[in-house]
Amino acid sequence: MTLTVLGTAAAEGWPALWCPCEACAQARRLGGPNIRRRCAYQLGERIHIDFGPDSFAQMVEFGLDYSLMEHLLITHSHADHLCPQELNYRRAGFTDLPEDQVLTIYGNDAVWEQLREIDGHPLADCRARFERITPFESIDLGEGVVATPVLADHAGDEEAVNYLLEREGRTLLQGNDTGWWPEETWDALGRRVLDVVIIECTYGPRAGGRHHLGMREVIEVREELERLGALAPDARMITTHFSHNGGWLHERLVEHFAPHRIEVAYDGMQLEL
Ligand SMILES: [Zn+2]
Ligand SMILES: [Zn+2]
Ligand SMILES: [Zn+2]
Repeated sequence: MTLTVLGTAAAEGWPALWCPCEACAQARRLGGPNIRRRCAYQLGERIHIDFGPDSFAQMVEFGLDYSLMEHLLITHSHADHLCPQELNYRRAGFTDLPEDQVLTIYGNDAVWEQLREIDGHPLADCRARFERITPFESIDLGEGVVATPVLADHAGDEEAVNYLLEREGRTLLQGNDTGWWPEETWDALGRRVLDVVIIECTYGPRAGGRHHLGMREVIEVREELERLGALAPDARMITTHFSHNGGWLHERLVEHFAPHRIEVAYDGMQLEL
């Protein structure tokens, strides 16, 4: 089953919407992997993670058909990961979706606060239902896919999560908006063997820690996972969720991370699970 990385930017995109800085000017000029949309992922045709303000553009660019979506996993309620207004277009009058084709949306309490009423309508009018996640409790998504939310250290009081996705004995960790994981999460990861790790690098060359990571911490995450024995021998580690404030364009990031056996994500990157 293919997982497509649909976006690799921090909240403001890269080039950032309103930014005249040199890193944004170069991204505009060079294009290609330097153009980074807001973070989201699609697994097969039925499963999606996060639904931010670039969802329409990602559907068009990567040839997706959201009418096939059955499960939408939300990591946290920040606006680059959840844009409730776009779910409004599942209502009658905007779509020919059958009434009984219901999307299940998974998230924490802050996500539910944003979804309980969308544009004055209850979520059910959008042919959707909500399931409150419990960190570390697995969710069966059918066709052999299991998702398990693990706690991040990202959004203050809100219980932000990352998702472990498992299928046929392989495990992928989606890790954007992580910060340095709390002890419970390291414990949970230490009991796994990860085949693919997607890890954020929001701050680039600047130091991270709480809420977000930078380049140095990305390498420390790899070292810690190795120390815990949590990486498969041929595991792929891939970094994502870059802010233009970090300033390093795609090629420079690739060169920096290569000796550490860490790949740099780009929009449209495909991984097998
Ligand atoms: Zn984010
Ligand atoms: Zn900029
Ligand atoms: Zn966030």
